[in-house]
Amino acid sequence: LLSLRGVRKSFGAGADRKVVLDGVDLDVTAGSCVVVVGSSGSGKSTLLRVVDLLEDVDDGQVLLDGEDVADPWVDADAVRARLAMVFQQYNLFPHLRVLDNVTLAPRVVHGLGRADAEEAAMAMLERVGLADKARAYPDQLSGGQQQRAAIARALVNGPELLLLDEVTSALDPELVGEVLDLLLSLRTEGVGGRPTTMLVATHEMGFARDVADEVVFLHDGRVHERGTPAQVLGDPRRERTREFLRRLR
Ligand code: ATP
Ligand code: MG
Repeated sequence: LLSLRGVRKSFGAGADRKVVLDGVDLDVTAGSCVVVVGSSGSGKSTLLRVVDLLEDVDDGQVLLDGEDVADPWVDADAVRARLAMVFQQYNLFPHLRVLDNVTLAPRVVHGLGRADAEEAAMAMLERVGLADKARAYPDQLSGGQQQRAAIARALVNGPELLLLDEVTSALDPELVGEVLDLLLSLRTEGVGGRPTTMLVATHEMGFARDVADEVVFLHDGRVHERGTPAQVLGDPRRERTREFLRRLR
């Protein structure tokens, strides 16, 4: 579904130039879950933002079903309609009820009428266990509920790929579990019987261990190690990976 080939990205110019992605190759096949781990500043968010076309690349290809979407001529809205991204925080519009947050994309992107959009939104809110909060405003929800609502909003248009950037790291520890459980169920049961394809940046190694088909360890904008969770997290080959995992303990 998604392939990155030799993706380079730097910020700044001259002496301040900082290479953030330094020739990244990565594949996410349909139905799979790839989890990107690495220290703060290693380039995880930038990687996801490149895929969502929020950043352009300096070099390399971002292929969606073989089409290079990093090409400036590509219809970015059409590409983004196939993807959905959830961030660490501030995902919901505070002045809109939860239901209206979720109906926004179907109405604007797909031009659905209010009734159809609300039906789709309610089904998705039910899927994430928030049907009873549809009429509430975001600030009336716990952080965990807000992130589940944000995930419902991301999924309501049926994206082919869900991009998740540290969706639990702003949450109180006791709220992390409910969001991770939801993501796990999106992997196992999916939506409408189809497992959700995911590219995830996270600090939750337990989550990586439980749901990832592949773990990618990013260091200084390069893929240092990749493999199954058991291999990368349990029996890392490279010293940098070991050091990273040691520091987490
Ligand atoms: P964290 O775990 O803290 O979220 P990360 O792995 O997501 O870190 P990025 O946010 O991708 O890391 O940032 C990688 C590097 O790129 C950092 O050094 C950051 O300061 C720099 N960077 C990111 N965005 C910009 C920007 N818009 N302008 C300049 N530098 C940026
Ligand atoms: Mg980040």
